[in-house]
Amino acid sequence: MEVAAEKDILHEIMTCIQCGSCSSSCPGADNLDLTRRQLWRMLQMGLVEEAMSTELFWQCTTCSMCEIRCPRGIPLNKIIMELRERYLEKNGPYGSMQQMTTILNLTKSITGDEPKNRLLWTENIPDITLEEREKLVKDQAEVVYFTGCVSALFPQAYKIPQSLTRILLKGGIDFSLLGEDEWCCGYPKLAAGCGEDSIKDFAAHNIEVVKAKGAKTLLVSCPTCYHVWKNEYSNLGKQHQIEIKHYTEYLPELIKQGNIQFKTDEVTITYHDPCDLGRKSDVIEEPRELIRLLPGVKLVEMRFTGKDSKCCGGGGNLEMTNSELSLEIAQKRVAEAMETNAQYLVTTCQQCKRTLQNAVRKNRARLKVYDLLEFIAERIDTTTGGEAK
Ligand code: SF4
Ligand code: SF4
Ligand code: SF4
Repeated sequence: MEVAAEKDILHEIMTCIQCGSCSSSCPGADNLDLTRRQLWRMLQMGLVEEAMSTELFWQCTTCSMCEIRCPRGIPLNKIIMELRERYLEKNGPYGSMQQMTTILNLTKSITGDEPKNRLLWTENIPDITLEEREKLVKDQAEVVYFTGCVSALFPQAYKIPQSLTRILLKGGIDFSLLGEDEWCCGYPKLAAGCGEDSIKDFAAHNIEVVKAKGAKTLLVSCPTCYHVWKNEYSNLGKQHQIEIKHYTEYLPELIKQGNIQFKTDEVTITYHDPCDLGRKSDVIEEPRELIRLLPGVKLVEMRFTGKDSKCCGGGGNLEMTNSELSLEIAQKRVAEAMETNAQYLVTTCQQCKRTLQNAVRKNRARLKVYDLLEFIAERIDTTTGGEAK
C-alpha cells in the first residue's frame, strides 16, 4: 500500500529525516520493542499494514513531546490518532476500549454512572452551608464549572471539585454546576480511535446546556476537558463564543482581590505541568503565578518543566492499554520530583495526580501529591473562616 495514496495526514511522514529526536524524547522509549523512528520508517516505505500490526501507536500517552522536538514539524500526534482510527476500523476496539466506548455511548460518562451521581461529590463539601450547597446548580450564572467525569465520579478525586467550589464561594463568584446535564467531553473516544465525528453529539449537547445558563465563562479543572473544549469542539465546527478557562487562568485575579486569607507557614513544592495544559495549551506561567500568590509557599522547579515537562504516563488511555508502561513513566517523573527535595508534588490535572500518586506509592517516596486546587483549599486559614481580616 502506497503512503502517497493514503489520507494526507500519513503523507506528512514523508518529510521525516530519520533523526531519531522523537524516539529519544519519548517517555516510553526504554520500554518498547521498536522505536518511534522505526515506526515512521515503515510508513515512509508504504508498509502501513506492518506498521499497524506493531500496535506501537497504542503505547503512547499522546503527550506531544515527540512533536515539539521534531525538526521537520511533523504532526506526529495526528498520525498516531490516524493509525488508531484505522486500527479500530479494521480490528474493532483495542483491548478494554470496547467496554469503555460502549459505556460512554450509553451513559455519557466514563464510569457508567447514572446522571444524578454527578452530584454525589457535593454532598460532603467541607466548610459550606446547606443553603450554599442547594444553590450549586442554578438556572442562570455568569460562570459554569464543567467538572469532568473523573473529578465528579471517582471518589478519590472528589476533593478537586470540592476545593474549587469552596474557593469560588469564598471569592463570591456567581457560578453554577451542570450537574445531571453534564456529559463527558468526549476525549476518551478520540483516544480510542473513534474519530472526531464520534464526539459531535457530546460537543453539541455540552455547548447547548452551558449556553442555556447564559454563561460567558466556562471554568474547567481538567486539562483534557480544557483542550477538547478549546480546540476539538471548534475543529468540529461547533462555534460557541464561550470563554474557556482552566482554573489556573481564572483564580489569580480572584485571589489578588484579597478576600481569602491563607496560612503563612513555609512549605516547598514542585510543580508538574500536565501535557494538555502546558505543552499543548501553553498555560505554563499561570499555575506558577497562582502558586506565587500563596504566602509561605516556595516553588522549586524540576529539571524538565513547561513545554519540556516530562509526561506522567496517564494520558492517551495508556493506563487502559498498558498499565505497566504507564506506571514506569510515572515512576521516572516522580524520581525527578524527588531530586528537588520538595515536600509536595503539585499538579493541575486529576489524572496526573492519580498516576503520580500511584508511582509515589510504588517508589515509596516521601512526597505528598496534590492537585493545586486541593493544595490551595488546604492553605485557606480556617481559623479566620478563610475570610480576609
Ligand atoms: S506523543 Fe509522547 S508518548 Fe506518544 S510517541 Fe510522542 S513522545 Fe512518545
Ligand atoms: S523527530 Fe521528526 S524527523 Fe526526526 S525521526 Fe522523528 S519524525 Fe522523523
Ligand atoms: S495525565 Fe496529564 S501529564 Fe499525563 S498525559 Fe495527561 S495531561 Fe499529560
